[in-house]
Amino acid sequence: MAKLKILICGGGLAGNTLAFWLTRQQHDVTVLERFPNLRLTGLQIDIRGHGVEVMKRMGLEQAFLAHAVQEQGLEFVNSSGTRKAYFPANRSGQGLQSFTTEHEIMRGDFCRIVHDAVQGRARYLFGKTVQSLEQKGESVEVLYSDGEKEEFDLVVGADGQWSHTRNMMLDPGAPDPVTFLGAYIAYFTAPVRQQEGEEYNGTIYVAPGKRLMFTRRHRPDQIQIYLMTQDRSERMQNARKNGVEEEKSAFTEAFRGAGWKADHILQWLEESDDFYCERLSTVKMPSWCDGRVALLGDAAFCPSAATGMGTTSAIVGAYVLAGEIGEYCGGPGTKQALPSALKSYDQKFRPFMEQVQDGIDPESGYWTKIPTSPLGIAILNLLLGLAAFLRLDAFAKLIASEDVKGWSLPDYEGMDCRKS
Ligand SMILES: Cc1cc2nc3c(=O)[nH]c(=O)nc-3n(C[C@H](O)[C@H](O)[C@H](O)COP(=O)(O)OP(=O)(O)OC[C@H]3O[C@@H](n4cnc5c(N)ncnc54)[C@H](O)[C@@H]3O)c2cc1C
Repeated sequence: MAKLKILICGGGLAGNTLAFWLTRQQHDVTVLERFPNLRLTGLQIDIRGHGVEVMKRMGLEQAFLAHAVQEQGLEFVNSSGTRKAYFPANRSGQGLQSFTTEHEIMRGDFCRIVHDAVQGRARYLFGKTVQSLEQKGESVEVLYSDGEKEEFDLVVGADGQWSHTRNMMLDPGAPDPVTFLGAYIAYFTAPVRQQEGEEYNGTIYVAPGKRLMFTRRHRPDQIQIYLMTQDRSERMQNARKNGVEEEKSAFTEAFRGAGWKADHILQWLEESDDFYCERLSTVKMPSWCDGRVALLGDAAFCPSAATGMGTTSAIVGAYVLAGEIGEYCGGPGTKQALPSALKSYDQKFRPFMEQVQDGIDPESGYWTKIPTSPLGIAILNLLLGLAAFLRLDAFAKLIASEDVKGWSLPDYEGMDCRKS
């Protein structure tokens, strides 16, 4: 196969998965990461449905399972910590996954596993970004932040929800593809030792005022903490602009007196050195490519943490993009065929993303229905308890979009490492 020279902006799971497949097709791949090294922070993520199959086709199942988080289930508690409902993980390998899947892993571990599987076959450039892109006939000229220039046959933006590549690709007057869904999520870890007899469970406490506190254990000496709020205050809206310390104090203000373990959690928040805050948002675009520039992962089609499908979508999308490049660009006229490969990626993968993002909007998302009053929360806990008792996976169905109907993962020649 004739080689293409490809630049991937972003060394997250989308970027590394694409690099994995494209280097197996012998293309000349550069991964550009804004951070000075591979960014391995982030809490627990999972992969579902077609994402599990792509991970297996990459030949990474053993490595994945060796690092998987063994979460046993998810409980809901009231303000005094009493369990009101419990949903065990679905480890049967059949049917829809529960909230806790059998493929849970820390983001950094999965990123490192994929990166290690690529290393040596792709060039990694850390600590710089692309300043501008210019499409010139059959190539794209890239100007880096350090003033250097380089030409590529294809540039892929896998640089996350706030993608700079997307900004450069879109016409100046194009509508903003990011929709804010009305909630903020804080993520951090705390040094809390496992107690005797304590299981690896996730615990959710719904607090009055549309606030949610969630803890889960992934190590004997550490827990993860997630805080979600629909706070509409100006302070919360502007916190991102003013840096991490301001985000921390906006969350402290929002959760003070929330009940359950709020006092401890706010203390851990203040001491945390891995605090990360997300404005819950989706990205939707009429096209994921323009000429020889394409977008992938959260940059193109962020489904938001509300779907639990961000990483699955990123790695399945990377597989389809690489597969279409392999199909179209395998013979003579490789470079000329590239725009058709990108269009085909868009056409084939879009029905998957339309289903994943279906119903995820600021007005009707499930998080907008979280009750505000103590009575509403007591009723919610009662209903969840009933669903758990009857073993209904209603809760998982409400929040997970893994059941992508009528869409089959395409098979591409040479793209199942279990066969080689
Ligand atoms: C630090 C971090 C922590 C996260 N934590 C969680 C979590 O706890 N739970 C969860 O569900 N999801 C989390 N996510 C999001 C999750 O990783 C993604 O939704 C999903 O895996 C899709 O990945 P992606 O590769 O498209 O985007 P991302 O994972 O966002 O990766 C994008 C990569 O591009 C890099 N980048 C950004 N701008 C540029 C630029 N201009 N040039 C070059 N590189 C650039 C970023 O540093 C990052 O490495 C986190 C993401 C990040 C970056």
